[in-house]
Amino acid sequence: MVSRVVFGRGSFNQLGDILSPKRLNTKAPFIFFVDEVFKGNAWLTSRIPLSYDDKLYYVSANEEPKTSQIDELVEDIILNHKERPSGIIGIGGGCILDVAKAVSIMLTNKGQSKDYQGWDLVKNPAIYHVGIPTISGTGAEVSRTTILTGPDRKLGINSDYTPFDQVILDPELTKDVPKEQWFYTGMDCYVHCIESLNGTYLNAFSKSYGEKAFSLCKEIFVEDGLSAEESQDKLMMASWHGGMSIAYSQVGVAHAMSYGLSYLLGTKHGIGNCIVFDHLEDYYPDGVALFKEMKAKHKIELPQGICADLSDKEFNIMIDVALSLEPLWENAIGKQWKKTITRETLRALYQKM
Ligand code: NAD
Ligand code: ZN
Repeated sequence: MVSRVVFGRGSFNQLGDILSPKRLNTKAPFIFFVDEVFKGNAWLTSRIPLSYDDKLYYVSANEEPKTSQIDELVEDIILNHKERPSGIIGIGGGCILDVAKAVSIMLTNKGQSKDYQGWDLVKNPAIYHVGIPTISGTGAEVSRTTILTGPDRKLGINSDYTPFDQVILDPELTKDVPKEQWFYTGMDCYVHCIESLNGTYLNAFSKSYGEKAFSLCKEIFVEDGLSAEESQDKLMMASWHGGMSIAYSQVGVAHAMSYGLSYLLGTKHGIGNCIVFDHLEDYYPDGVALFKEMKAKHKIELPQGICADLSDKEFNIMIDVALSLEPLWENAIGKQWKKTITRETLRALYQKM
C-alpha cells in the first residue's frame, strides 16, 4: 500500500515541504515527470519546487507508456546526473504516474524494463517516488502495478516496490480535464468496481472498497446535485477506493479485452474499457445497463467499428493478448474459464466493436 497520503484542495502546495526532508544531498536531484498538457500552465508549474540539480521532464500522455520509453528516460537520468536521484515525482494522469513508478524501479534494478513485466520480478526497492494525479479514475495512484507496453506484450510491473511512497490527492488539479476524458477515465474506476465486485476473487477487503467506489460513481455519474468541486473530490476518492478494491482482487473481461485493443490499435485504457464494456451485457448485465444510462446522460458517443477492417492475423493478435491475461479471466469466470472463453467467443465480441 501507499505509505503516506495527503488529501485536500490546494494540498499540492505542500509538495516542497514534503520533499525537502527526502533530499539526500544537493547533487541528488528530484526528477519531476509532468504531463505535457501543463506546459505553459503557470497555475500548476510555478508551484513545482525545483532547486539545485532538479530536473523537469514534460511527458506526453498521447500514447501509453512503453518499456523503451522508460529505458530511455532512465538512461538519460543516469547520464546527466552524478548521483542517483533523491526521488521521482509524477504529476499527471495514469500515463505519467506509471512512468514515474517504472522509472523509480528501473533506477535501482538492472537490465531493461521489459524484463520486469509480470508479477513480483523486481529484486531491489525502488527509489522514493511520489504520485500526484491530475485526473481521476485509474487508481494508478494507489495500485501495485505500472502498466507498460513492451515489445511482446502490454503488462504491468506488479510488485511490492511499485506503489508510491507518497501520494498527494488535490482534486483541484483535475478542474480542467475535458468532459470526454473525464468520462473515459472515470469509467475506468466504474469498471474496476464492477469487475471486482462481480469477480470470483472477491473478499471482504476488496468488497468494502469496491462498494464505496461504486456508490461514489453513482453519485457522480448518475445522480444530480453535486457541485463541480464536490464531484472532483468524490471522483478522486472513488478512484482511490476502486484501486484499493482491485489491489486484493482483480479486474475482468473488459480489461482483458481492452488490453488487446490497446496492444494492436493503441486504443487508450479509459476509452478502450468503455468500448469493450458497452458489449459485455452477457457478463455484467446490471453494470452494463447502468453504464449505458451514464453514457446517455452525459451524451458520450463511443467510436464504432474500430475492428471493422482488421485481418484474421490482427484479430488473432488481440485474442492472444487478451487470453494471456489468465488471472483476469479466472477472476471473471472462475477456474474453469477455458471451457467457456474460446477464441471464437472473443472474436465475436471484438467484431461487434
Ligand atoms: P492519461 O494519463 O492517459 O491522460 C488522459 C488525457 O488527459 C491526456 O490527454 C492528458 O494530457 C489529459 N489530462 C490529464 N490531466 C489533465 C488535466 N488536469 N487537465 C487537462 N487534461 C488533463 O489518463 P488516465 O486515463 O488517467 O491514464 C491512462 C493510463 O493509465 C494508461 O496508460 C493505463 O494503462 C494506465 N493505468 C494504470 C493503472 C495502474 O494501476 N498503474 C490502472 C489503470 C490504468
Ligand atoms: Zn483500468
